[in-house]
Amino acid sequence: MKERNREQVDELVFALDKAISPRISCTDCGNCCKSLMVLINDDEADKLSGHLGQSREAFDTAYLEKGSNGLMIMNRMPCPFLSDNKCSVYEYRFEGCKEFPALHLPNFKDRLFTTFMHYERCPIIFNVVEQLKDEMEFERDSSFRE
Ligand code: SF4
Ligand code: SF4
Repeated sequence: MKERNREQVDELVFALDKAISPRISCTDCGNCCKSLMVLINDDEADKLSGHLGQSREAFDTAYLEKGSNGLMIMNRMPCPFLSDNKCSVYEYRFEGCKEFPALHLPNFKDRLFTTFMHYERCPIIFNVVEQLKDEMEFERDSSFRE
C-alpha cells in the first residue's frame, strides 16, 4: 500500500465498497449498533431529544455518558435505539452512525488503524479489506493456509 498514492487507494476502496455494500444486509448484522461507541454532539442530541419529545436534561440522563473533556457517547451498548436489528430513530441517527464504516470517505490510508479495529466487527470492512489485498497482490503468509 505504501507504493500506492492516496488517490489510487481511495479509488480502489470506493469501487470495492460500491460493489460489496449492497450485497451485505446491515439489518441482518447490526454489529455496529451493538458494539460501537459513536461520538454525539449537542446539535444531534437536541434533534433526537426533540424527536422523542424529551427535554435535553431527561434525554441526557437516560442515554448519554459525558466525559470531562465535553465528549458525549451513549451510556450503554447495544444502542437503546436498536429495535429488531433496525434503527428506530433512523432519520435522527448521529453522524457517526451515518458515516460508519466510512469506506466512502477519502483518505483511507490515514484511517488504516481505525478501519482494522473494525475488521472483525463489520462484514463490509472485512470483505473490502480482503478484496483490497487481492487487488494489491498482497502476499498472504502461506503458514496461515491449511
Ligand atoms: S442511533 Fe440508530 S444507527 Fe446509531 S447506533 Fe443507535 S440504533 Fe444504530
Ligand atoms: S457492522 Fe457493518 S455490515 Fe454490520 S450493520 Fe454495521 S455497517 Fe452494516
